[in-house]
Amino acid sequence: MGDVDLKTVQKKVTAGASHRKMLAAAEAGQPICVASAGIPHEVMHTMGVYPIYPESLAAISSGIGKAEPFFDEARTRGLSNAICSYTRSGLGICWTGQTAFGPIPRPTLAVTDVNMCCLHATWWSYLEDHFTLPTFYMDMPVTDDPGAPEYIDYYESQIRDMVAFVERTTACRLDTDRLREALADSDRAGHYWKKMMELRRHRPSPMSFRALAGQILPMVIALGERDTADFYEALYHQYAADVQEGKTPAQGGEKYRLILNGIPIWHHLQLINYFEEKGANFVWEPYTSLNWGNKTSTGRLDLDRPFHTLAEKYTNVYTNKPILTRFEYFDQAIRDYAVDGVIMFSNRSCRPQSIGQQELIQLIQERHGLPVLIFEGDQADPEGFSWADARMRVDGFIEILEGRRGQGGSA
Ligand code: SF4
Repeated sequence: MGDVDLKTVQKKVTAGASHRKMLAAAEAGQPICVASAGIPHEVMHTMGVYPIYPESLAAISSGIGKAEPFFDEARTRGLSNAICSYTRSGLGICWTGQTAFGPIPRPTLAVTDVNMCCLHATWWSYLEDHFTLPTFYMDMPVTDDPGAPEYIDYYESQIRDMVAFVERTTACRLDTDRLREALADSDRAGHYWKKMMELRRHRPSPMSFRALAGQILPMVIALGERDTADFYEALYHQYAADVQEGKTPAQGGEKYRLILNGIPIWHHLQLINYFEEKGANFVWEPYTSLNWGNKTSTGRLDLDRPFHTLAEKYTNVYTNKPILTRFEYFDQAIRDYAVDGVIMFSNRSCRPQSIGQQELIQLIQERHGLPVLIFEGDQADPEGFSWADARMRVDGFIEILEGRRGQGGSA
């Protein structure tokens, strides 16, 4: 067990605590930046800029059932429901100046990039107009090979340009020694995150994906901070102890090991519990390793080349990759995690996550013969989602898994 008490540090990294920190930062005169989830937080943190992440706020609002006012605001301003619900909710949050936890201070600058999807450019241009904000658009062109050296070099130059932009528009300056310290904390957080994911190979796996979906927040919004690193180190030790004790969220013992592909269905996270009630446990998902867990060639961050290592990590995003490369992740995980079935979330909001799912399903079935359940819906907007229908479909899927067990199949 590590030295840090999990409960103590956990209180410091909740969504409510981060909201209080943001208000304190604004009060102390720190610049507030509206940032996309993909921008290197380590740099912002080092420079003394406090970022607000509308995508995370949208996910949290949906998860606690408080997103409706933000969707209403977006509707009133003419945004169609066909637009991604993170964008509608995130813009609603900025337009109303409120989050589910209270008001947001007026931002002083904005930074976005297109590493998750190109919608961010349009989304941030709305913010730029609304707040009359100096806004920096980092570029990450589409490519078949995000690991190519010239691609990483290009993104490294974009990070340097972002630093120059922040220095031009605020009194903040970058101190390279402090950046290395932030990278050391980011590296420790990513290291323990990855070790936590590896714990899930154990049978039974100790983690509920519902808990994990809540625990990912500091990884998204607070990398480079000491508390974040302490939190994941302590959380890893907790789960490692759970492995020793054979704990699992699957009720009656873990009978089925599953993959979930897609963003969590934030407004109905209890769907995960419903699987667990049936003895099924999620043991891997692309979402939890989207670009988290030190995704560099060595698996660690290189403190001697801070900009380069950040570029390597932030360009290594699952959704930037061709379908066949995405399948390799599934292929490996199905073997490493002894998976019995796959849940595909066909998300009407997020095309980058949903694109190519039919090809993926075909490849998974051809190579592994696994049953696949497809859910259609939206990650943050509950409109049209039927809980009764979802439960019925889970019941049917579990029957298929049970039938395969009976026939001596892998499940
Ligand atoms: S479409 Fe997907 S990647 Fe783009 S903003 Fe929405 S959730 Fe994020």
